[in-house]
Amino acid sequence: MTYLIPTNLEGALISLAQQQDRVVAGGTDVYPAMMQGHTPKSILDVTRIKELMNITVMDAGIRIGAAVTWTKIVKAKLPTAFDGLKHAAKEVGSIQIQNVGTIAGNLCNASPAADGVPPLLTLDARVELASAARGVRILPLQEFILGVRKTALAFDEILTAIHIPTPPDGAGSAFEKLGSRKYLVISIAMTAALIKCDGRGLISEARVAIGACSPVALRMTQLEANLIGSKPSEVEILPNHLSQLSPIDDVRGSGGFRLDIVQEQCRRAIQKAATNG
Ligand SMILES: Cc1cc2nc3c(=O)[nH]c(=O)nc-3n(C[C@H](O)[C@H](O)[C@H](O)COP(=O)(O)OP(=O)(O)OC[C@H]3O[C@@H](n4cnc5c(N)ncnc54)[C@H](O)[C@@H]3O)c2cc1C
Repeated sequence: MTYLIPTNLEGALISLAQQQDRVVAGGTDVYPAMMQGHTPKSILDVTRIKELMNITVMDAGIRIGAAVTWTKIVKAKLPTAFDGLKHAAKEVGSIQIQNVGTIAGNLCNASPAADGVPPLLTLDARVELASAARGVRILPLQEFILGVRKTALAFDEILTAIHIPTPPDGAGSAFEKLGSRKYLVISIAMTAALIKCDGRGLISEARVAIGACSPVALRMTQLEANLIGSKPSEVEILPNHLSQLSPIDDVRGSGGFRLDIVQEQCRRAIQKAATNG
């Protein structure tokens, strides 16, 4: 097996197009999969590529390079609208996993239980994809993750960055995760919320996303619409607010249990997000 570790993006993209290397960042999803016999001919480690390494704050928003780790997200100085994402970062695996695992790897792996997806959906994230042949394209996150372990990434593309438009001023955010134990655990269900209240304390902007209850995490559009004008402390989550979900029964919990959990998670996440803006 060849191990390539380029420092410039162009070289990495040419190699990928020519020999279809297996792209690796932290390797926390790739290497466990290799233990089950999926060994690639060549590995393309993207963690030394300059263009992928930083978080950049720009006028239009924030660009998170694809090699940025969960730990780097936790330590970055970001607006309160990113508190939910930071909370999710602290819940991914353990400190060791957070030190090498990347937020981009979490998206490309496309697990329904990926903790990064719901908070990024509430931040209206878009992904930047680059190829040697076609240059750069930008896709909304909802159009990037297509199903369980399925993304819109072409064989010759690298996810180079995640773009987040400047969040509404004064918006707060929160993340709720339930696993079968407190730490180092895959989510049974998780909920992210981004909330902004007006001068009277009523919700004026609401974004809520739920993961591990459908093949791809989803924004709860009906709930979001109904939240506008409500007091966060009086929010009621009704079954029809969650009708987009299709939670499965598995070893970690039944579909019915998952629905019960997310009803409570929504209430808590909305109330917490409303108080940290
Ligand atoms: C012990 C353990 C605990 C874990 N706990 C959690 C958890 O609690 N929550 C959770 O969500 N996840 C968890 N994970 C999964 C994993 O740590 C995360 O999904 C992590 O964010 C993956 O990032 P990575 O950089 O290690 O990805 P990698 O393993 O390097 O790559 C993952 C996938 O993305 C592709 N890829 C990576 N970067 C790029 C890129 N820039 N462009 C194109 N393709 C790319 C790879 O080819 C691969 O298909 C856990 C894993 C382990 C081993």
